[in-house]
Amino acid sequence: MNCFWCCNPEGISPKPALMYSVSKCILCGECAGKCEHHAINIEDGKLNISRSFCLSCEQQNCIDECYSGALRLSGYEISLPKLYGIIRRDRQYWGSEGGLTLTGGEPLLQLDFVKSLLQKCHEDYIHTAIETCGNIPWNNFQEVIPYLDWIFFDLKNSDSNLHLKATSADNKLILENAKRLSTEFPGRLIFRIPLIPGFNDSEENINSVISFLKDTGRKEINILPLHHLGREKYQMLQKSYTGGSHPVPVKESLETIRKMFNASGVDCYIGSETPF
Ligand code: SF4
Ligand code: SF4
Repeated sequence: MNCFWCCNPEGISPKPALMYSVSKCILCGECAGKCEHHAINIEDGKLNISRSFCLSCEQQNCIDECYSGALRLSGYEISLPKLYGIIRRDRQYWGSEGGLTLTGGEPLLQLDFVKSLLQKCHEDYIHTAIETCGNIPWNNFQEVIPYLDWIFFDLKNSDSNLHLKATSADNKLILENAKRLSTEFPGRLIFRIPLIPGFNDSEENINSVISFLKDTGRKEINILPLHHLGREKYQMLQKSYTGGSHPVPVKESLETIRKMFNASGVDCYIGSETPF
């Protein structure tokens, strides 16, 4: 998916993303000279990157040549034993209430790795959770369900056409998976709404979510209010940020939505004010 408000745009592509910081760049041109695909040029005091070449670039020589640190790669490959070593090292720090949450991008796009990691954590009694957009084949859920304690699942818009426009995917598969998880996942399933004023904060959409929760027997919802903290990352990816044209939700409208859920018997948590 490709949601216009995403605050982790570097995670949308399954490949590591090249991040470029204008404020650190001294326009020395060293990177352009080392790029074997000739993907970088400097014109009128501005550095341009033809990013389609970067997707298949194995060497990323440009980064090694950048002494000012203006170029860096977001994302890297890591082996399961190495990652698990870090998790085990940090375990004491979490305390007894802590655990592992896989997020993204979409963690279940990397099914084999994620399954092995969750299985390992499960064997060692580490609490496990994922945050998912839900737009993945049911089989991917089925494979990891035995090793998961919690699932955070986004409900972005009940109107499939609006969903498609805003995220590049309709909501058919998402709702099917959500319903199935409601009956087949034995752990804690927490639905979430990333609340974007002007996109999904209408009374009609909130009422549709309430009906959905009633149908699936769920009694809690987590609202994640829009914020613009990811704006700078769009600049670093040289992408435009259309989420910026939507205001962040005001407290009064969040409280109105909370009351609507509460009135229908659903506990509504705003942002990080949650019991988990
Ligand atoms: S990632 Fe590769 S293709 Fe892209 S600018 Fe750097 S060296 Fe060139
Ligand atoms: S090497 Fe780094 S500092 Fe020099 S032009 Fe390239 S990005 Fe800018």
